[in-house]
Amino acid sequence: MKSRDRLRIAMQKSGRLTEPAQDLLARCGLKFRQSRDKLFCFGEGEPVDLLLVRDDDIPGLIAEGVCDLGIVGRNVLREFQLTNGTGSELSELRPLGFGHCRLSIALPQEDAYSEPSQLHGQRIATSYPGLLGEWLRAHGVDARVVMLAGSVEIAPRLGTADAICDLVSSGATLVANQLREAAVVVESEAVLAGRAELPLDERGEIAELLLRRLDGVIQVRD
Ligand code: ATP
Ligand code: ZN
Repeated sequence: MKSRDRLRIAMQKSGRLTEPAQDLLARCGLKFRQSRDKLFCFGEGEPVDLLLVRDDDIPGLIAEGVCDLGIVGRNVLREFQLTNGTGSELSELRPLGFGHCRLSIALPQEDAYSEPSQLHGQRIATSYPGLLGEWLRAHGVDARVVMLAGSVEIAPRLGTADAICDLVSSGATLVANQLREAAVVVESEAVLAGRAELPLDERGEIAELLLRRLDGVIQVRD
């Protein structure tokens, strides 16, 4: 593969992380020109370009070397690391201080919860089988993981699961679906993801410059 001399950052095209990620990059002094397909944004000052994609695709794009860095939820990054053989070379370079949420197990409101062993033999619906599986093993719980790509919160009412494991921020969605939060599996926020080792060429130097600027911006905000 022909090596690139410009750094490429992947971020969510449209969703919760889009605006705060754009703000953060702007505060790091980066400016972009948007292309007509709105997928690729050319960096106008520094040699840094943006790729706008679905958040779920970001870890894979970094693992395959299509992008060097990505702004993505810790939940998505860690799920990729657990379920893809190649994910182990990826690492969380910086927590970014926005997109806070938690991946939690929730039960129907009428079910009291006191400890993990209660979940033995239960069917738990989730889009995060890797993270849920890790939590269940760590707590010695033998439950059945039901994989659902979306609308996880309605599974208990449909009778396809006894509990769910899904992202929660305010908890309003849980209440609306008559569920209660029982246990937190992962505390998440947006993170800067990259391969554990930065490239040794010019791109690595640009990445280091960007990390230094990012640290300055994050410190000022704290
Ligand atoms: P895409 O089209 O990119 O796949 P999506 O629907 O998967 O979009 P969003 O709902 O925009 O993604 O969520 C993106 C990220 O925002 C999540 O992975 C998570 O890290 C974070 N997040 C923060 N609060 C919440 C919340 N209440 N529900 C879901 N995600 C949240
Ligand atoms: Zn997504």
